[in-house]
Amino acid sequence: MSEMEPHVSPPPVVRGEPVEVSSGVFVIPDGRVPLVPNVGFVVGTRAVLVVDTGMSLDSAAYVLGQAKRLAEGKPLYLTVTHFHPEHGFGAQVFADSSTIVYNREQRDELRLKGAGYIDMFKGIFGQHVVTALEGVELIDPHEVYDGETEIDLGGHVVTLRTFGRAHTGGDQVVIVDGRVLFGGDLFETRMFPIVPYFPPDDTDVDLMSCRHSPCVAICRRLRPWPALGGAWP
Ligand SMILES: [Zn+2]
Repeated sequence: MSEMEPHVSPPPVVRGEPVEVSSGVFVIPDGRVPLVPNVGFVVGTRAVLVVDTGMSLDSAAYVLGQAKRLAEGKPLYLTVTHFHPEHGFGAQVFADSSTIVYNREQRDELRLKGAGYIDMFKGIFGQHVVTALEGVELIDPHEVYDGETEIDLGGHVVTLRTFGRAHTGGDQVVIVDGRVLFGGDLFETRMFPIVPYFPPDDTDVDLMSCRHSPCVAICRRLRPWPALGGAWP
């Protein structure tokens, strides 16, 4: 009797060409690879916004390269949907070339839990993640907002809106021109809602799945197309 082959996840690396999903809005799809986010780019006439970096310096450098190519010399902004490693732990790569903007809750949560998440991810997810997190240093954003803010990219206005405690304590949604939605891990496709409850290290999630309904309400009100969700966790 042969032994079963162990399930091995591919490395959590962001790769692939940005796909234009709406005028001026591009996504590098997650490819259904665990711990890879849908990375977004909103290309205006004046500036470009990047949404999420991937987890490693290598992935973030790839994303930054694609952003610079799309920007053609225009200024760059970076935001991340929430503080989890695969969404924002490449931010240091953007620090010298981009304006990094988070909401206050997300910034505070990163300061409080970021180092612990590095240790936890290394312990849970194996060698690929240990490798991905090598050299990661957690940095503060350049700008912090409360509640909601807008960035006029020229031809596209992006709203960064604090969502409140749900998947994390500081989720935000990114809405482009009132119709394209980046929701991070507030909603997923083809899987259940994700509630990363890790007592005693992290309990700042809402265990009531119905708490996610405001995101559904946003979707119903805006009828966004497309709506880009996240990748575990
Ligand atoms: Zn997450």
